[in-house]
Amino acid sequence: AKKEARGGYRLVSMTDSRAAEDRLVLGSALRESLSRGMLQLHYQPQIEARTGEIYGVEALARWNHPTLGNIFPSRFIAVAEETGQIEAIGSWSLEEACRQLTQWDRDGVRIPVVSVNLSAGHFNNRGLASFIGGVLQKYGLSPDRLTVEITESVMMDESEETMKVLSSVRQIGVGLSMDDFGTGFSSLSRLTRLPLTEIKIDRSFIMNLESDSNAQAVTTAVIGIGNRLGMTVVTEGVETEAQYDLLESLNCDVLQGYLFARPMSAVELGGWMHQPRQL
Ligand code: C2E
Ligand code: CA
Ligand code: CA
Ligand code: CA
Repeated sequence: AKKEARGGYRLVSMTDSRAAEDRLVLGSALRESLSRGMLQLHYQPQIEARTGEIYGVEALARWNHPTLGNIFPSRFIAVAEETGQIEAIGSWSLEEACRQLTQWDRDGVRIPVVSVNLSAGHFNNRGLASFIGGVLQKYGLSPDRLTVEITESVMMDESEETMKVLSSVRQIGVGLSMDDFGTGFSSLSRLTRLPLTEIKIDRSFIMNLESDSNAQAVTTAVIGIGNRLGMTVVTEGVETEAQYDLLESLNCDVLQGYLFARPMSAVELGGWMHQPRQL
């Protein structure tokens, strides 16, 4: 315990108390914002490496609270996980992204696919495929317009239950993407046992692509095996022309990162789609 300036003893570290405070204050504020529809989605374009055309967008949650201000996703996603609200955020994201996709369709903004981040809890839920199917039906969307992203750690759970949920989601025709690939411990051979349509190589590999031959070796191998298995390989965090050139030469299918665009509101994305681009 550390002695505080005005006496008394602090029994928890700064980071512990910050986390506890986050859980209390942000946890209940988040619950309220979520129930009042006060979260937003931003969308980040994904670019087809070969053509420079738009491949799709990833939906990313944003929380701008009227008094607490703009809270970073890393912070409120952690709070959501700790306070049992992460599934509610995922379900909300999925529905909101589908609603927005039909809105873009009506507005003549041509977005082929939207990707939504779901968490582990969803994949323990037998009702997931019918929930997703219901949302698609409600908005009149074909299932191939939606991809769900799940982090590698979820895929690690090889329980029969999780595998069943994964294949039932895949069976309705929705894309399945393994997010943040390379940060967990799953082997390349594991990729063959999962009903994946897409792999997203984690940003940490792209960051070190030019300086680190190991990062380059892993990236090359994952792109190669992904292509062989008929999956789309996406790289996230592409920030420089040099990374773009290198990834293109490695036959990476889809690129996402600040080099092309930051995540933006649905309205901003509409504008971005109409502006001419030179890639
Ligand atoms: P993620 O799924 O890996 O999303 C990609 C993150 O990388 C986003 O951060 C995006 O803004 C950021 N990013 C994109 N391009 C670049 C780049 O070129 N450079 C750098 N430095 N960063 C880039 P964001 O929006 O802060 O989201 C953080 C994480 O929060 C996401 O990581 C995802 O795991 C989680 N998250 C966001 N929205 C949701 C959601 O609706 N549900 C769930 N379960 N998780 C979400
Ligand atoms: Ca993601
Ligand atoms: Ca990711
Ligand atoms: Ca990542």
